[in-house]
Amino acid sequence: MVRHAGDFRDCANINISFGGKQIVPTRILGIESSCDETAAAVVVDGRVILSSVVSSQLDIHRKYGGVVPELASREHLRQIVPVVREALLQAGLDFKDIDAVGVTQGPGLVGSLLVGVTYGKVLATELGKPLVPVNHLEGHVHAVFLEAHLDGKVPELPAICLIVSGGHTLLYHVQPAAGNGDGAKRGFDFRRLGGTRDDAAGEAYDKVARLLALGYPGGPIIDQIASKVAASGANFHEKDGLNFAPVKIKGNPYDFSFSGVKTAVLYYVRAHPEFTEEIEARKKALQEGRRKAADLMPLCSPRTLSLISKFQSAVVRDLVTRTLAAAAETGSRTVLVSGGVAANSELRERFASKAAKMNFAVFFPSRALSTDNAAMIAAAAYPHLLAGDVATPDLNAEPNLRLA
Ligand code: ADP
Ligand code: MG
Repeated sequence: MVRHAGDFRDCANINISFGGKQIVPTRILGIESSCDETAAAVVVDGRVILSSVVSSQLDIHRKYGGVVPELASREHLRQIVPVVREALLQAGLDFKDIDAVGVTQGPGLVGSLLVGVTYGKVLATELGKPLVPVNHLEGHVHAVFLEAHLDGKVPELPAICLIVSGGHTLLYHVQPAAGNGDGAKRGFDFRRLGGTRDDAAGEAYDKVARLLALGYPGGPIIDQIASKVAASGANFHEKDGLNFAPVKIKGNPYDFSFSGVKTAVLYYVRAHPEFTEEIEARKKALQEGRRKAADLMPLCSPRTLSLISKFQSAVVRDLVTRTLAAAAETGSRTVLVSGGVAANSELRERFASKAAKMNFAVFFPSRALSTDNAAMIAAAAYPHLLAGDVATPDLNAEPNLRLA
């Protein structure tokens, strides 16, 4: 279980007085179980994280090279109670101190979602507190605001938000929702500009890593190897005859497609039988638990290293180009990037350098807030709670829930 201790724990017991009227902070317990992380967190007034606990199932799904839905739901069942208890313990709170429960309703794997939704319903009913259904994607947007808040910043709206993970690659235009106060209180209005037509970017990373025997999940290892290749200044690129042309998409310029890049890697590997030996060597290393970049990189030929860095650059270039084009087109001044792939170092660097030239501010969450977590769910629940947007007892999981 990974624990991210809260930075503002003492806020749990503060009461603020304003104009003679006492303002009582709202403590929301967030619950997230949409995919392969069981997570719980306590967040005050949508922005101050008291605790955030994430139990990842990576070790369970690793040998399958992807999330196995049936195993995921069973593991959520095992983890949900201890994870929630730990989140309360870290926040220094008891169940009775919670003002509302926020739970991910969708999108996600139905069996996984059902565990969180059912637990949330039982808990809220038992405590006599409101239950707020949260769209997981809206949570990812709030994750960026949570991180900015830690830096004393508030991203300016309207913004373009890229949500990029193992399950999603989506572009939204984000504006403040009607009402008073900042984004934490008002929440946001979303307009969908585009999304992937096939694989999500993180899915392409995971599939390419599987193909090249680099382990699971593919994102972090490919990121590390590509960074090391770039830092070494090695240039194998001239000799390997491999080039990823920019992805062409007919129709909506804000749609994405990553299956072509993945298939190009597949065909390239098939066309080079000399890859077989090194792939077998890496498979053996993985079976022996040697999964780090330092273990696998020496088992990669220069040609494989080139393939890895070119694959990453192709994905990153496409994500950055379409997102910044959307920002320019919509007159946005801010770009928000969230989801597991937002942790990618080349993506961050490329966004930062390109956006600075175009005069956009770019915001990313930290790694802990980029991947699935419950702090973002509690944060997203807050404006809905204030708006009275709470669940009725017939709340159900919505695997295909849309944001806009
Ligand atoms: P989901 O639950 O939808 O799969 P997460 O937000 O939990 O998404 O993110 C997991 C995904 O992010 C995986 O596909 C993983 O390979 C990818 N990922 C994680 N870190 C990186 C990274 N540094 N670079 C690229 N992709 C990454
Ligand atoms: Mg995940």
